Amino acid sequence: MRVLVAGAAGFLGSHLTDALLKEGHEVLGVDNLCTGSLENLRHLNSEPRFEFRQQDICSQFDPRHVDYVFSFASPASPEDYLRLGIETLMVGSAGTCNLLEIAKKYSAKFLHASTSECYGDPEEHPQTEEYWGHVNPIGPRSVYDESKRFSEALVMAYHRYEKVDTRLVRIFNTYGPRLQMNDGRVISNLLTQALRGTELTIYGDGSQTRSFCYVSDEIDGILRLSRSDEHSPVNIGNPTEWTILDCAKTVLRVTGSRSSVVHRPLPQDDPSQRQPDISKAKRLLNWEPKIDLETGLKLSLEYFRSCIEAAA
Ligand code: NAD
Ligand code: UDP
Repeated sequence: MRVLVAGAAGFLGSHLTDALLKEGHEVLGVDNLCTGSLENLRHLNSEPRFEFRQQDICSQFDPRHVDYVFSFASPASPEDYLRLGIETLMVGSAGTCNLLEIAKKYSAKFLHASTSECYGDPEEHPQTEEYWGHVNPIGPRSVYDESKRFSEALVMAYHRYEKVDTRLVRIFNTYGPRLQMNDGRVISNLLTQALRGTELTIYGDGSQTRSFCYVSDEIDGILRLSRSDEHSPVNIGNPTEWTILDCAKTVLRVTGSRSSVVHRPLPQDDPSQRQPDISKAKRLLNWEPKIDLETGLKLSLEYFRSCIEAAA
């Protein structure tokens, strides 16, 4: 297949690109580099089946014939999307629409990276795909949440009205090598702080929960979904739920760091709990994650160490 990966220079997009190339496909990666980095693709410089194009997907473009479109372009860390609020709303509306038009034009299959943020600060726990969510539509996080929810509506509309062969993955917090060291996400911050021996920043009292999936498990689930005929959203995430404080303790254990913990104000509308119900992914895709948090953090250490050295 010839595959278009939008957001290829990002954390997930670059791992997805690697996995698609490994399966023997040709990949056209597009990215405007607003939060991603060409460093994530540097190892592909001499790969003949990979082509990169610097492109903002909010502007129309023609990738020529493609068989599959993976829609992964969007700022994703809270620090990034709060800084790039309007860009985030635009990429989830105009950007997603342009990618769906490409899929329609070339009769390509389509998979869109959605998010657990569609559930907002959930009142149902754990979250199944049937839950409609509890989202503040005008709060600071709305630039991301409503962008992603609008994208889901657009994808379903192109499926219903234009018969585009679509899929929606709801991704829960994923981590691993190639996260930007300073993107402000919790794993990036805690690992970097622990390795540098500076204070670990915990927002609020640290009792809020997240469920962390290692990147290779996430990509495996996404590829399985891409080969399925399921058009409704599917949760792909690790169902083991952690308080942020326990996550910080695990980071300290894995790094051997003696950093102390410092509390900072909890951002507005920060969800108090997040845990995917992955029954659907298990049943439909025969998928479940294999890598627990401690193992995944160990697998990420070398990368974060090298980022710290490069920044020194
Ligand atoms: P990332 O910021 O590392 O990657 C996103 C990439 O999209 C970046 O390379 C960025 O430059 C690019 N991009 C943004 N706007 C663009 C535009 N207008 N045109 C072209 N390229 C653009 O983030 P990530 O963690 O790899 O997230 C990838 C996708 O997965 C996003 O859609 C995100 O919403 C979704 N997601 C990620 C997570 C996670 O935990 N990592 C969780 C839920 C959903
Ligand atoms: N968080 C934290 N310290 C940090 C960064 C984040 O305590 O240095 C918290 C944040 O308030 C949230 C959780 O960790 O409750 C996950 O934050 P992240 O930005 O990784 O992603 P989110 O799931 O909120 O999109």
